[in-house]
Amino acid sequence: MSDLTEADAHIVVVGAGQAGLQAAETLRAGGFEGRVTLVGSEPHAPYHRPPLSKGWLSEALDARQLAIRDVSALERKNIDLRVASHVAEIDANARAVRLQDDSRIAYSGLVLATGATPRMLGNAAPADGTICALRSREDASAIAKGLRNCLQARLPLVVIGGGFIGLEVAASARKLGADVVVLEAAPRLLQRALSRELSDWYARLHASHGVTLVLDARIDKVETSGSTAQVRLIDGRRWEAGLVLVGVGIIPNDELARRAGIACDNGIIVDACSRTSIAGIVAAGDCTVCRLPDGSMRRLESVQSAVEQGRAAAYTLLGMEKPFTGTPWFWSDQYDAKLQIAGLSRSADRSVARGDMAGKSFSIFHYAVDRLVAVDSINAARDHVIARQLIGVGVSPTIDQVSDISFDLGRLRPA
Ligand SMILES: Cc1cc2nc3c(=O)[nH]c(=O)nc-3n(C[C@H](O)[C@H](O)[C@H](O)COP(=O)(O)OP(=O)(O)OC[C@H]3O[C@@H](n4cnc5c(N)ncnc54)[C@H](O)[C@@H]3O)c2cc1C
Repeated sequence: MSDLTEADAHIVVVGAGQAGLQAAETLRAGGFEGRVTLVGSEPHAPYHRPPLSKGWLSEALDARQLAIRDVSALERKNIDLRVASHVAEIDANARAVRLQDDSRIAYSGLVLATGATPRMLGNAAPADGTICALRSREDASAIAKGLRNCLQARLPLVVIGGGFIGLEVAASARKLGADVVVLEAAPRLLQRALSRELSDWYARLHASHGVTLVLDARIDKVETSGSTAQVRLIDGRRWEAGLVLVGVGIIPNDELARRAGIACDNGIIVDACSRTSIAGIVAAGDCTVCRLPDGSMRRLESVQSAVEQGRAAAYTLLGMEKPFTGTPWFWSDQYDAKLQIAGLSRSADRSVARGDMAGKSFSIFHYAVDRLVAVDSINAARDHVIARQLIGVGVSPTIDQVSDISFDLGRLRPA
């Protein structure tokens, strides 16, 4: 790929979100002097999505604070940003993309960073602002309007899905004074991401803020009439809502890639260097699924992953291998609880708490046999930072060291 450093090379990045922006900027940081075009379907320059469910809903953040980068900063880096432009097709043989307006852009390297789309329930399509999902600024504006409707009509926000997005919106809505009902199909909240003890802790946190939680909830029907919606469970319980938020996960936007013949499996399949099955095309962020060296597949839907994969994708196109192999991390803000997760707890068989779980600052350390694989910290930023480093270098504190709050885990960091 060394030809890509020549001034006539042109790298096209599809998707002007977190991963796409990172790829474009890393190309410049890596010394690429050719053309870089960043094409995004949304009408905005790249912006931060995490605040949409947090400060953006409950506080007055303005659009400038949401922007990841000033447009002028992109101009200075000679990145050609095209907003409100949707790539409709990739012609991998001709090395060109076709936009919805039928114009074509030839590329010498292509980055796919198309993100994901919220999953909806079969019979609950977004309708009249009373049934919403949350991904974009426009979605967040519709939710803010729906919450005003809840307050005026004295009807609750009904959240379908007790995952991070649903629970963050629930917390923001409570802050605004709206009644909130959370309906979760699983027997506990955040089942995919957290251990049982932390799920239970979150259930108590939301209950203490007045949220009605219904676990094992089986949705029968969601209907709308005028400015209200009705949600009915199979067991007959029903709620009239001023707004229904569906937060049941995302579907990776891999259709464009699939149609171009790129291997996909619930996401564009990439390796740690963000390579797809077609040479010269790399992919990054929520649209991807990463094949690990042992053949298993890993999906990470987080800002860190989008950034690290975007970076790896750019370096791959520049002919430099800088794989994303670091410790995954993630955060969530609900009420006054900041959760920070380092590592992945799926393989864990034992957990140890550090600090007082009844209080508001503690961590849970997860072990697979004797190896530390993940740490979930609530309002314990130092634990999180140290844990990330320890997991990264493969150092595992003993159970005694972890449980002893007076023991400084920082001592275990290699010099
Ligand atoms: C409400 C909310 C809260 C979140 N909170 C957190 C959090 O607290 N912590 C955390 O780590 N992560 C959080 N996330 C997840 C994080 O924001 C995502 O993982 C990250 O934004 C993914 O970046 P991306 O670039 O892959 O996708 P996106 O940011 O979605 O960007 C993809 C872009 O590609 C565009 N696109 C798609 N198809 C095309 C096409 N054919 N042509 C042109 N453009 C196209 C899309 O319109 C979109 O703008 C949150 C997400 C949401 C929605």
